[in-house]
Amino acid sequence: MLRQVADGVLIHESEFCQSNAVVVQGRAGVLLIDPGVLGSEMAALANDLRELGQPVVAGFSTHPHWDHLLWHADLGAPPRYGTARCAAIVRDRLSDAGAKARIAAGLIPPDIVEQVPLDLLGLIAGLPAETAQIPWDGPGVRIIEHQAHAPGHAALLIEERGVLVAGDMLSDVLIPMLDLNGTADPIEDCLAALRLLEDAAGDVDVLVPGHGSIGGADQVHARIDQDRAYVRALRDAHDPSDPRIGPSAKSGWEWVSGVHAWQLQSLARTSERDGTPG
Ligand SMILES: [Zn+2]
Repeated sequence: MLRQVADGVLIHESEFCQSNAVVVQGRAGVLLIDPGVLGSEMAALANDLRELGQPVVAGFSTHPHWDHLLWHADLGAPPRYGTARCAAIVRDRLSDAGAKARIAAGLIPPDIVEQVPLDLLGLIAGLPAETAQIPWDGPGVRIIEHQAHAPGHAALLIEERGVLVAGDMLSDVLIPMLDLNGTADPIEDCLAALRLLEDAAGDVDVLVPGHGSIGGADQVHARIDQDRAYVRALRDAHDPSDPRIGPSAKSGWEWVSGVHAWQLQSLARTSERDGTPG
């Protein structure tokens, strides 16, 4: 079920929202980034890794949303990480006894909720803010933390392999979904994040978004530009003419147009309340 996208980097694309789990081969086992969504998929992934003789030696969640925080017992119990901010949010959101039931009822689509194992949800340790790389025995994985989409969101750059793991940015199917939960300037946060990714993406040949298709070298800057154009259109309340929304949206992704309408509305309400123009 694994597909190699670069030397020593493999992915599995889930049937749920084209979620990409990323496997990075190290010296004594693999790093697993955003392991997947359905229990059966994670179990099959664990099985494949066992057959390859590759234990999971570390895990990483790119951001504190449920579909990036899952784990399966068959993957073993290595240290699992996120940024400090990501881990703090997760701890806070899972701190009461009803949290998982709320996630199951309110966030996970009903048609798959029975197939999503929540036992090991969010058991991540926060890496201190100054941590430059994931601590593990394998190719260097640089943490590019930025405030867009979710608090403590991190993209990962595997420089040696020319791979950028973008988290929920730079997707060919999902527009940038802003973090509108009380952040002061979500638009500028997102534009700043795109500048950071652009600075990091110089020698990237393979782009792995959290959801959607893997991009080649030609896609890296195209997708950064596409996300930036979308965010600017949102800021200026212009029609974004973005292929990910409207009639050109990929089949199965029509709901993204609704996300766009909702973002437009939320931002209009905020600027009304703040009395700022636009
Ligand atoms: Zn996601």
